[in-house]
Amino acid sequence: MNTQPLAATGVNFPEIGLGTWDYHGGIEPLRAGFELGATFVDTAESYESEPVVGQAVRGMRERVFVASKVSPEHFRAADVRRALDASLLRLGLDHLDLYQLHQPNPAIPIAETMGAMEALVDAGKIRFIGVSNFSVAQLQAARQALRKHPLVSNQVRYNLADRTIEAELLPFCQAQGITVIAYSPLSRELQRIHDCDPEGVLPEVARATGKTPAQVVLNWCLCQDGVVVIPKGNSVAHVRENCGASGWRLTPDQKRRLDEKLQFRRRSATEMALRSMVPSGLAPLVKRSLGLLPRSLRRRMR
Ligand code: NAP
Repeated sequence: MNTQPLAATGVNFPEIGLGTWDYHGGIEPLRAGFELGATFVDTAESYESEPVVGQAVRGMRERVFVASKVSPEHFRAADVRRALDASLLRLGLDHLDLYQLHQPNPAIPIAETMGAMEALVDAGKIRFIGVSNFSVAQLQAARQALRKHPLVSNQVRYNLADRTIEAELLPFCQAQGITVIAYSPLSRELQRIHDCDPEGVLPEVARATGKTPAQVVLNWCLCQDGVVVIPKGNSVAHVRENCGASGWRLTPDQKRRLDEKLQFRRRSATEMALRSMVPSGLAPLVKRSLGLLPRSLRRRMR
């Protein structure tokens, strides 16, 4: 398993971590990942996976980089402290390696939230501060609000079929040394990436590399400087396969063919802004409604 630097912290962590949203695989898939060097696991107070992550980490805490997230409704200073304590309790841990703001909340001043995050670092309850789903402007505001400790990461959607971050956010993070943690790197369903590949370039590259399509898809993300991925696998087989996406690289030519032939999308700034306005409680309803649309239209909307 290759490792990558976490921003300028001097800490290296695995370039493949284990996502746990909608995770119901028990401890075995997580343990299988740890054994293969994917000693980085991502959870959130909203995922309901903190207890199983805690069980999987037990007995090997020193080897595993544990990341969780605080939900936007808990961005008031006292709520941040309470949310962390509740996460630590569910995880059975005394500290987190990375604590991330799950998504921006314009209703609460970022200075208040970041002040609370810095106090948690000072108290030894978290090692590093990160964010998720932040735009360039929101990253700049978050960094300005931090007085003592750096902002080390931004967790955002990135995969072969959705390359929105390449326009502005990825270059900014690379220039500023903010690690990008790519979520939904398999596009939540590998078939969605095949749907964007009318010429069958993905299976062709997979054959040429001797890797599986999923491994190629993950490796494509890792070809970008400063990007790590956190695929979710509910089975030992999926996790093992995903770990095999590290330790090698696509050739420049293979990457270029994927870049050129897959019909990726980039969400516009307007679409991103509209999406960020959907209250998290309504997200499942919106998702169900999108599911009723014809497949071709659905792919454009997601
Ligand atoms: P993903 O990792 O892109 O895709 C997960 C799906 O791919 C699951 O259906 C999984 O099936 C399947 N899969 C896994 N490995 C596979 C393989 N080798 N071959 C074929 N299919 C495979 O999607 P995601 O769960 O949305 O994203 C990953 C993680 O990112 C999440 O778990 C979460 O930790 C994080 N995330 C963060 C945010 C945020 O707002 N910060 C948002 C979304 C996700 P099985 O489940 O059957 O294994």
